[in-house]
Amino acid sequence: MNPSPIHDLSRLCIHTITTRPWSIETSIRQYAEAGVKGITVWRDALVGRDPAAVGQHIRESGLHIVSLCRGGFFPSVDRHKRSLAIDDNRKAIEEAHQLGAGLIVLVCGADPGQSMEVSREQIREGIETLLPEAAAAGVKLAIEPLHPMFADNRSAINLLSQANDLVEQMGSPWVGVAIDVYHLWWDPHLEQEIARCGRNKALFAYHVSDWKTPTVDLLNDRGLMGEGCIPLKKIRSWVEAAGFNGFNEVEIFSDRYWQTDQPAFLQQITAAYLKHV
Ligand code: ZN
Repeated sequence: MNPSPIHDLSRLCIHTITTRPWSIETSIRQYAEAGVKGITVWRDALVGRDPAAVGQHIRESGLHIVSLCRGGFFPSVDRHKRSLAIDDNRKAIEEAHQLGAGLIVLVCGADPGQSMEVSREQIREGIETLLPEAAAAGVKLAIEPLHPMFADNRSAINLLSQANDLVEQMGSPWVGVAIDVYHLWWDPHLEQEIARCGRNKALFAYHVSDWKTPTVDLLNDRGLMGEGCIPLKKIRSWVEAAGFNGFNEVEIFSDRYWQTDQPAFLQQITAAYLKHV
């Protein structure tokens, strides 16, 4: 069963990485003018800026700050690097707090020099270390499972079931899950794991794009919604059946689209959103 079609942009959020050639200031202005209502800020867009001032600018433009991307990358064979990762995540929590973002998305990391089990243990330790500080700052943490093609060095959390397991083990209202269709669309257990995530009240974010055939670059060749094989309306129906009523976040890394005219790309995004999400 498909959900009712989306008729407006009131739940559309765009990640600043999607329009990477634009500065944060240009993204804010262009998104607001296009009628987009949400923005997820990537940390690279904040370099050289005061996060509090950027947050104020975003709110004055009528946009809601959905999340800050990204924290994580906890595992390493090197203890010192693990400690540096914790420091960087502390910085991300502080940035999110100043920006006024209530959520940080975690790309949890992995180290090919050790087992997946050890990497997952280090992810759990890292998140548990940060949870009190995140709670004190009023910032939730969302574990984003990544497609297994990234299992070597970007995330040892590759299934929604693994993220749900971790959330249940930690049992904190400050940690949940970001569901990204690009990473999870192929999982035969996706519907039931989305429902489980909803029962845990842990479905914090929902990211959309599409999977192209062929994909010419594992990281930077995501498709615009409708260009690929991801059953977007079906997955949205599962997410909404699980109780999610937040933003649909467009997150497209694409060398191809980054080289095109960005105002025209933004128009393509809003049109594809209304038609395919
Ligand atoms: Zn994502």
